Amino acid sequence: MDSKIRKTFKFVVIGGGIAGVTCVEQLSYSLPSDDVALITAGPHIKAVTNYKQVAKVLEEFDVEEQPASVLEEKYSNLTVIHSPVKRLHTQSHLVETEDGHIYGYELLCICSGAIPKLLSHDKPYVLGIRDTDSAQEFQKQLTKAKRIVVIGNGGIALELVYEVEGCQVIWAVKDAAIGNAFFDAGAAKFLTPSLGADKQERVAPCKRSRYTTEAQTFTAGLILKAAIPRADDSRPGSALGPDWHRELVLKGAEEASRRVSVEYQCEVEKIFTSEEMLNSQSETHALDTGENSLKNCDLHESFQNVFSNFPPFLPEEKWPVYVKLTNGKTFGCDFVVSATGVTPNTEPFLHGNSFTLAEDGGLRVDDHMVTSEPDVYAAGDVCTASWEHSPLWQQMRLWTQARQMGWHAGRCMAARVLSETIELDFCFELFSHITKFFNYKVVLLGKFNAQGLGADYELLLRYTKGQEYVKVVLQTGRMVGAVLIGETDLEETFENLILNQMDLTEYGEDLLNPDVDIEDYFD
Ligand code: FAD
Repeated sequence: MDSKIRKTFKFVVIGGGIAGVTCVEQLSYSLPSDDVALITAGPHIKAVTNYKQVAKVLEEFDVEEQPASVLEEKYSNLTVIHSPVKRLHTQSHLVETEDGHIYGYELLCICSGAIPKLLSHDKPYVLGIRDTDSAQEFQKQLTKAKRIVVIGNGGIALELVYEVEGCQVIWAVKDAAIGNAFFDAGAAKFLTPSLGADKQERVAPCKRSRYTTEAQTFTAGLILKAAIPRADDSRPGSALGPDWHRELVLKGAEEASRRVSVEYQCEVEKIFTSEEMLNSQSETHALDTGENSLKNCDLHESFQNVFSNFPPFLPEEKWPVYVKLTNGKTFGCDFVVSATGVTPNTEPFLHGNSFTLAEDGGLRVDDHMVTSEPDVYAAGDVCTASWEHSPLWQQMRLWTQARQMGWHAGRCMAARVLSETIELDFCFELFSHITKFFNYKVVLLGKFNAQGLGADYELLLRYTKGQEYVKVVLQTGRMVGAVLIGETDLEETFENLILNQMDLTEYGEDLLNPDVDIEDYFD
């Protein structure tokens, strides 16, 4: 095999997503005289742009798809190879690509991302959304669709059901509230009315400084101190980044704007094609007779007005595909969107090697992003952070962490070559994420859902319908997590309070009193 080696690089990085590109940039910049190769399956790479450090660990950035030539122009020591890796030989330090070439490496970093868990791989009419191609396919199918069924309760499903217009959406979630991966039931309740309103009709969230303390402005006496029930605990291109839907018109075949019906606490039992359906005993529930399916749902009122804009669906209407849920209902639809999470994309690298995999299927990495195989690092969605985490951090497969891990892996690889020692980066001290759901700014900090805290915590809550939802998680008087929805301006102060672990007992409920300017107070 050695005679066929095209070239041996000091560093090879596999994957042109956020993790891989950040790793490559870090390496090419720190060691400009060493050869770096980026081997990637897709024609484009994902670049981080408009990076902004919002606070000590909170960061915001855009993700842009760019031609790889942009990177090569920037770094003269970088070569981009466009071909999927089909095999890895860790003992001989070789990578085989599908176009028949073999490359050698001294140090390798795998950043191959993750692939969507599809409900069914062999059924037509089941779509997963992962990369630009699949998002465009979804958009194309949607233009002809009158009804779709969305399965899943993570970030993708949340964004999708909010963005789709002109099409009826049946949203099946396995939990008792929407957005379980990010929120508790209280935050879900805050966001849910947005699904029933026209996007442009929804009152824009306003700044905290505009609040008044009039009784009707705040619910339940401004601050609730309560234990909120948590709602139950081919070849891939890069995953889409934030605002992936911004460039896409997600419009179905109907004129009316939005119609979402949530089916709680259920999963998919079976997916039928129309032919299979004809032979089955299942009963189809169409939304014109859907009073029953909505009766127990918080959204019922919000939907009533919207429903009247749509022509009724005839119960006997024939659909290309039918979904039977575990709550006994069966819905016909034009297609099913499977948004049930992702699996680390490790398959091309496992054969003949002995990587240690984590329970979630990711390549286990230590605090230097090193896998169990010699000289092989990993970063982003493909890996599982297997070091002892800071009490305020957890891994979530999000673009912020893909960037942070790619950056840290690049630094660790460079430090190894330079024989320098390096500590785990500060960004892994505190979990932090800024995103948007239903057009609200959402900031998540630390143990924002009291993850792993058992019963040993208390919550402070401030809730203003249509404006903001602020939740603080306290443990022994110290802030350990927060959820900020809306323009709260509290993220920097709360980040500080979580990082410095100040005892906040004496402030009690004043911590969230809108009359106390907490930013000034703790400045
Ligand atoms: P990826 O971006 O998936 O990149 C993997 C790269 O590896 C790709 O370039 C691919 O072509 C390449 N590759 C794969 N296999 C091979 C191979 N065999 N050989 C060579 N190259 C290979 N996160 C958020 O934080 N906020 C959001 O709002 C958000 N929304 C999302 C919406 C959607 C629809 C999706 C799918 C994901 C979303 N995410 C979001 C998650 C986020 O996009 C991922 O966590 C992040 O992109 C992971 O980056 P990565 O570099 O690890 O992997």
